[in-house]
Amino acid sequence: MLHHIAIIGSGPSGLFCADALLRQRPDLKIDVFDRLPTPYGLIRFGVAPDHQGTKAVTRQFDRLFGGGSLRFIGNVAVGADLPLGRLSEHYDAVVLALGAHADRALGIPGEDLPGRYGSMAFVGWYNGHPDFRHLDPLLDAPGIAVIGMGNVAVDIVRVLGKTPAEMTASDLCVHAAEVIAAAPVTDLYIIGRRGPAEASFTSAELAELGRLERVRPIVEKADLPDGLPSGIDPAEAKIKEKNLQILHDFAARTDDRPVKLHFLFHSIPEAVLGQSRVEGLKLKGRAAPLSAGTVISAIGYRTAATGDLPQPNQNGIIPNDNGRVAPGLYVVGWAKRGPSGTIPTNRLEAKSVADRMLADFADDTAPAKSGSAALDTWLRQQGLTVIDWPGWKRIEAAEIAAARQGSPREKLADWAGLRQAALPSETQPAAPRAGQQ
Ligand SMILES: Cc1cc2nc3c(=O)[nH]c(=O)nc-3n(C[C@H](O)[C@H](O)[C@H](O)COP(=O)(O)OP(=O)(O)OC[C@H]3O[C@@H](n4cnc5c(N)ncnc54)[C@H](O)[C@@H]3O)c2cc1C
Repeated sequence: MLHHIAIIGSGPSGLFCADALLRQRPDLKIDVFDRLPTPYGLIRFGVAPDHQGTKAVTRQFDRLFGGGSLRFIGNVAVGADLPLGRLSEHYDAVVLALGAHADRALGIPGEDLPGRYGSMAFVGWYNGHPDFRHLDPLLDAPGIAVIGMGNVAVDIVRVLGKTPAEMTASDLCVHAAEVIAAAPVTDLYIIGRRGPAEASFTSAELAELGRLERVRPIVEKADLPDGLPSGIDPAEAKIKEKNLQILHDFAARTDDRPVKLHFLFHSIPEAVLGQSRVEGLKLKGRAAPLSAGTVISAIGYRTAATGDLPQPNQNGIIPNDNGRVAPGLYVVGWAKRGPSGTIPTNRLEAKSVADRMLADFADDTAPAKSGSAALDTWLRQQGLTVIDWPGWKRIEAAEIAAARQGSPREKLADWAGLRQAALPSETQPAAPRAGQQ
């Protein structure tokens, strides 16, 4: 009988799945585990800090946690701290909503040089992901190359290109804001194998690059076709046409700005160049390498292998049959389909997996399992400190209290600080008295 469900991952796919289940079965008890002390997955650590509107979906998830049927069990890595085998003893069904957090490799010489970063790490650094707080990326040269022609690449060049004033209302972490503001960047490159009509950025994100105070987009008119080539998916034709129009507008610009953003289409990176750090990027068919001290690859992600969790396949996803991995074990979101689609894509897909789960258990007469009660004891015995919903709310309150003028929050970005802020006030260390630091 389906009564206790564990969802591993508190990103959009896990929380949309919980929502879909509870709408149909309000009697269910669902525990959402996350290895991080904070909920929301890439809404917090991926979505750009200057796109606060996109993050507003978290309000809907907050209401869900307030409903009494959903618990947050943060700071517990399933597969590592807590074996999946043990979890499955206590829950009737388990949903893997792990996301895809490992950067895909470029597979070219020089990619391990200091100064080359994957976008999960780089975006995680400026968005306050505690795994990447100490990435300390090299941003000390005038040229920065971003490989990839999707919205993540667009986010990165925009965050690097905006002035501090343009980022005032963002929650860009102060440790990153200071480094970015001091970076001597004059040339940003956005580089893709594909042509302008195939690039996968969306029009609103692309158009925003034309409105930045100190950045001038540079597009070679010769690179732009007049119309869409044949073979473009009709469902995408409207966006692609709009993108082409925006790129034509960029190509027609003659204004001067201190930072040039070069769009390099049909460009295949062959090697990251440098002796002891990144100094340039060799592109196929171009005699002169690009001069760049930083190379960031935004070419996709894989689900990471973790302990006794099912192994991702060669495509970086957990093998599944429409969301079903094994009896009682399901997968949703990026771990199911790979890193594509927007936050709302996860809603529809999680609903279909939830429907499948409810159908699978419709005739199940086995007694329901115990749920979290026995597991809580085990977690305590292991010395694991669970960060629950009130713990997260204390972190959030501390972040809001620390926000600088105009910004919604100053994220706590290191593991120790997050865990400390989650403690109830009576267990917080006393604040130092005046004169004591
Ligand atoms: C840089 C970037 C910017 C983006 N910007 C936008 C945007 O502006 N708009 C938009 O619509 N979409 C955006 N997206 C896409 C959107 O973030 C994804 O569609 C969505 O987050 C995928 O949801 P998910 O739940 O599958 O994965 P995630 O959001 O990654 O959530 C997975 C969760 O699982 C947890 N987890 C992983 N392993 C374990 C484990 N072993 N134990 C416990 N917990 C675990 C992780 O900590 C994480 O919290 C962006 C993505 C990126 C990378």
